Amino acid sequence: MIELKNITKKFYKTTREVTALNNVSLHVPKGKIFGVIGTSGAGKSTLIRIINLLEKPTTGDVIVDGISLPGLSNSQLAKERRQIGMIFQHFNLLTSRTVYQNIAFALELANTPKNVIDERVKELLKLVNLEEKINDYPASLSGGQKQRVAIARTLANNPKILLCDEATSALDPATTRSILNLLKDINKRLNITILLITHQMEVVKAICDEVAVISNGELIEQGTVGEIFANP
Ligand code: ADP
Ligand code: ADP
Repeated sequence: MIELKNITKKFYKTTREVTALNNVSLHVPKGKIFGVIGTSGAGKSTLIRIINLLEKPTTGDVIVDGISLPGLSNSQLAKERRQIGMIFQHFNLLTSRTVYQNIAFALELANTPKNVIDERVKELLKLVNLEEKINDYPASLSGGQKQRVAIARTLANNPKILLCDEATSALDPATTRSILNLLKDINKRLNITILLITHQMEVVKAICDEVAVISNGELIEQGTVGEIFANP
């Protein structure tokens, strides 16, 4: 579903060159939950931004659902980007809009008819188990509830891939578990491929089918959770 081939990404600063990713290749199979774990500065955000088309690799190829991304025009990229949803550590909800409006906004951007939007928002809130908060503002919600709204919003336009950027890092352990269970549920029910980046080993152990470990921009290990975390 997602294939990175020999990805290198360099950033050029005034005085020096930073290699954020060095010759990284990995394969995320369709329908799986794939985790990328690494410490701060390892290159995780750069990796996810390359898959989400926010950065182009310096060299190497990114193939999403059979399509090579680096050579696409901006309009083609915009189209491919609709296949990819993303959730963040700090949720990125619009604070001046209600839960309904936050989710509806994603649908309006995709030119969804008004009568379809109402139904779809209710269906999405049911999926994330937050129907009773439909008219509340984000400020009145807990962190876990905010992340549920963000998940509903990003699923609104039926992406094939869900990217999670430290999605549980701002949450307490119990809330983290409930969000991870929701992601697992969504992965099964909607057959959506999930790629998550995290610095938390527990997250990877809890839900990932496969995991890649990155350090200093290099992929140092890749395999099933059992293989990577097996005690010798
Ligand atoms: P992580 O998400 O694992 O913390 P990042 O991908 O953010 O790692 O960063 C990897 C390396 O690339 C770091 O050394 C970081 O300073 C550098 N880097 C990331 N983005 C930029 C940028 N836009 N300009 C310059 N250097 C960057
Ligand atoms: P931002 O300035 O936070 O990136 P955008 O206007 O780009 O905001 O997007 C609004 C929200 O839409 C994001 O915060 C994110 O939760 C959601 N979203 C849905 N799909 C994507 C995607 N492919 N990439 C980034 N954000 C996405």
